[in-house]
Amino acid sequence: MTNSSEKQLTSIPISVKPTMIAASDSIRAIKRRFILSLCSISLLGLGVAIYQIFSLEVTRLSVIIFLVMYILCGLGITVGFHRYFAHRTFKTTRFIEICLAILGSMSAQGSVVAWVSVHRCHHQYSDLEGDPHSPHLKGEGIKERWQGLWHSHLGWLLDDKLPNSMIFAKDLIQDSIIVQINRLYIFWIVLGVLIPSVLEGILTWSWYGAFQGFIWGGIARLFFSFHGGYTINSIAHLFGQRPFVSKDQSRNNFWLALPTLGEGWHNNHHAFPNSARFGLQWWQIDLGYGLIWILKRCGLIWEVKVPNIGMIEAKLVKVS
Ligand SMILES: [Zn+2]
Ligand SMILES: [Zn+2]
Repeated sequence: MTNSSEKQLTSIPISVKPTMIAASDSIRAIKRRFILSLCSISLLGLGVAIYQIFSLEVTRLSVIIFLVMYILCGLGITVGFHRYFAHRTFKTTRFIEICLAILGSMSAQGSVVAWVSVHRCHHQYSDLEGDPHSPHLKGEGIKERWQGLWHSHLGWLLDDKLPNSMIFAKDLIQDSIIVQINRLYIFWIVLGVLIPSVLEGILTWSWYGAFQGFIWGGIARLFFSFHGGYTINSIAHLFGQRPFVSKDQSRNNFWLALPTLGEGWHNNHHAFPNSARFGLQWWQIDLGYGLIWILKRCGLIWEVKVPNIGMIEAKLVKVS
């Protein structure tokens, strides 16, 4: 969108601003090429990584770098993009805010402004007409359910219309530093691939080490960073338990909770979207909240919102 059309849109009263904006043909073509390239490159990385596992070529260092990169980028999404930027469930320093925005961008799930716009729109229209990535809007037949699953996981990324950031992420657009980070989205993705490559290259002092870092911490890790987040849009609105009363189809999925660093407790999250803590029971592992807890102890995060026991019990589904 050009600056002049942005100014025009700002001057329109919010009630009449369109909630969805159609991209121009050229932007749509660029977006499709980008998503296709991202899927192909990350799939290639996954293929090489699997080959190396079976041919016993993988080193312990490569696996460690993969895990560190995956966890850091995942924390950027769940703690940064989701719990901080989209829901403002705590307050933090400018430095932490910038780190979270950059790490989240390295997951390649969208730039921070686009991610927050889509996500806030998802909460506003959860599983109803207007939800950008609900798996429940294609129909009830078997074919329609598969179409819904595809749409909620990847298909929605190719949609012509996306949520209007001027409505859903106005606070972020007014923040010049966040806008700068948002503009450099592709740069952060490339940096997220180069860092593990350079790191493993230096640690092993070899070009082969650099190649291993590129594959494991870079493009194979991108596959999991990219798809890991989207499993919440698809799987966590289809399979799992619904302990809380909510108007949508969100579910708590135990199997997704650990790899998504707490995002798998999605029914909890829809019941308490302003809570920094997604795992509301002691046994519900929530690594994202673990980081928030540690940073709070260090004085780097404050005013952390968490529901009390009374609020949790009031929303639980009553079994008669
Ligand atoms: Zn949801
Ligand atoms: Zn949310």
